[in-house]
Amino acid sequence: MSKLQSIKGMNDILPDQSPTWQYLESTFRKVVARFAYREIRFPILEHTQLFKRSIGEVTDIVEKEMYSFADRNGDNLSLRPEGTAGCVRAADQHGLLYNQTQRLWYQGPMFRREKPQKGRYRQFQQFGVEAFGMAGPDIDVEILQLGTALWQALALTEYLSLEINNIGSAQDRQRFGAALTAFLEPRAEQLDEDARRRMYTNPLRVLDSKNPAVQEALQGAPELADFVSEESATHYQRLRELLESLGIEYRENPRLVRGLDYYNNCVYEWTTESLGAQGAVCGGGRYDGLVQQLGGRPTLAAGFAIGAERLVLMLDSLDKVAASYRQSVDVYLVAIGDGSTEKSLALATALRGAYPQLRILSHCGGGKYNNQLKRAFASGAALAVILESEAAGSEVVEAARIRRLDDSGETVRVALDAVVATIGEYLTKSEA
Ligand code: ATP
Ligand code: MG
Repeated sequence: MSKLQSIKGMNDILPDQSPTWQYLESTFRKVVARFAYREIRFPILEHTQLFKRSIGEVTDIVEKEMYSFADRNGDNLSLRPEGTAGCVRAADQHGLLYNQTQRLWYQGPMFRREKPQKGRYRQFQQFGVEAFGMAGPDIDVEILQLGTALWQALALTEYLSLEINNIGSAQDRQRFGAALTAFLEPRAEQLDEDARRRMYTNPLRVLDSKNPAVQEALQGAPELADFVSEESATHYQRLRELLESLGIEYRENPRLVRGLDYYNNCVYEWTTESLGAQGAVCGGGRYDGLVQQLGGRPTLAAGFAIGAERLVLMLDSLDKVAASYRQSVDVYLVAIGDGSTEKSLALATALRGAYPQLRILSHCGGGKYNNQLKRAFASGAALAVILESEAAGSEVVEAARIRRLDDSGETVRVALDAVVATIGEYLTKSEA
């Protein structure tokens, strides 16, 4: 029988890869905590209607990328393709949005049936932040500060650049969309099939096309900036002033639109050149209409989502993960002969109690001295503690050898009841 394989575009994260994930996750948690954001968790599965009403019926995600199915009772459900919709649904359902402000973060898997390639998967992880009840642009800038602080903490600042744009209100975009359609209609032959369809259903998405022929056809097209209301332009102007006063570098990209319909006013994206085609690592903006669109009271809102896989690719290729995260064993306990098993397991307990920061591995399953020592070296541990019966056939174990697993091979013999203290001395020496 053939072995079953994982679903295309859905990856396993193996133990050798998890240090990078742990490093990224713990750094993200530290940074959001510094900004006083609080965690929210919401289901992976929601009613399909939630995503249709928030992301938009005429978007790539809803039209062709969602994993949707009918539940046994006929309910239409979908695996979440992004986090904002579920976050809003949960926050509103539990009364977190009315008459108050919230700063929230989330983390978890998202699902989109896209063509898998490097940096683009069908199950991927996002980290997101969402802020509710604040008009901005101060809160927008705070969110951008948070992103900036995360890149700094990960030592990725020099590889990422921030692009911003003002996409105005829904009404502004409707007027602009009509003008864009009118501009594109006589040029329909220069467009690809996707853009010809989008030209009527969602003309702004044509701007986002990666097809050079389509970009060519857009030369001289109406500019969104000419259609945005004064209120929106003022917000954007103030945002730029604040960014400049804080020394946060950005580039304005008038073609930047997001693939989700709920955004308004300022939108932004951090991109990198170091990943090839999949260069966007974080995208976000304001979405002041979404809560109401989902049936809640009008609520100001803003946030972003980070693609974790793309950051993991960057951290690995740029070798940015601290060596301590890669270390998986510190002390390896070797036990030779029957009498040593019990003593060695008890010693492991004592060491774990005395030095909770150390990773202690007890060799299990027996085996010859040379084999056990080989495993100890392969584990990457700094020290081996070797317990061995005093004589062949004897069950008496009175002393242990502590061996440095480096080229020096330095070994000391200590009484069994002195092992814990001696390991402590090694620790202070290596810290000094
Ligand atoms: P892209 O332009 O790369 O398709 P997007 O605009 O669809 O991105 P968003 O919906 O804004 O992405 O999601 C935020 C972030 O999530 C993206 O910047 C990206 O880093 C990541 N992301 C989106 N889709 C995927 C995917 N299929 N696989 C891996 N990461 C993804
Ligand atoms: Mg996309």
